[in-house]
Amino acid sequence: MWAVGGLVASALVAPLLLAVDFDGTITSRDTLHVIVEAFGGRGVWDELEPSLQAGEITIEDAMRTQFAAVRATTEEALAAVRRDAPIRDGFRRFVAWAEQAGHRMVILSAGFRVVIDAVLADADIANLEIHSNDIAFSREGARLIWAERGGTCGHCGRRCKRHQLALRREPDDHVVYVGDGISDRCVSAQADTVFARSSLAEYLADQGRSYVPFDDFDEIVHHLENHHLRAA
Ligand SMILES: [Mg+2]
Ligand SMILES: [Zn+2]
Repeated sequence: MWAVGGLVASALVAPLLLAVDFDGTITSRDTLHVIVEAFGGRGVWDELEPSLQAGEITIEDAMRTQFAAVRATTEEALAAVRRDAPIRDGFRRFVAWAEQAGHRMVILSAGFRVVIDAVLADADIANLEIHSNDIAFSREGARLIWAERGGTCGHCGRRCKRHQLALRREPDDHVVYVGDGISDRCVSAQADTVFARSSLAEYLADQGRSYVPFDDFDEIVHHLENHHLRAA
């Protein structure tokens, strides 16, 4: 038995491992998309999107092509993100709820640490575990910095997010995955509960896999409290 918010929670309520995508999940829009749109030339993203969705090119290929044309300082890129990709409702409450209830959380992102840190700092959120790539912005051209992501995944043939999830997963964890896009497809199959929106939701529906739709993080807390935690 342990105390949660002044109440004594049942010892049967297992702590969760919450694995959360960043772009388009924690933020309302994909920050990479916003930056490419603002500094990389109009239409660059839209041109690549169909082949990316169809699996003809990898996320890394698309990122290389898209960011080759981005000429902006860090401050300029972050200003575009702050203007066009605000944080999704309820995320700060979600973080506080998880911390209080003893659930572990990790952000698994194919995006950029410098952007993630700025968005979270703006929202007064600190000390989250984050795994992502990074970028060095400059007026001369952006340089992508790839994170170590283990070997090629046996399921999707990429260096996908499964590796980072596996490193953090304990045998008894109930894994919750929250995401919206292509980089979440493979790893979400490893989760016990998936919250999905946008193209991830469409993909899972096509595959006949179950997921819970969401618009904000308050809905996720509500769902977990009512379905997972109460039933545990
Ligand atoms: Mg995303
Ligand atoms: Zn994979």
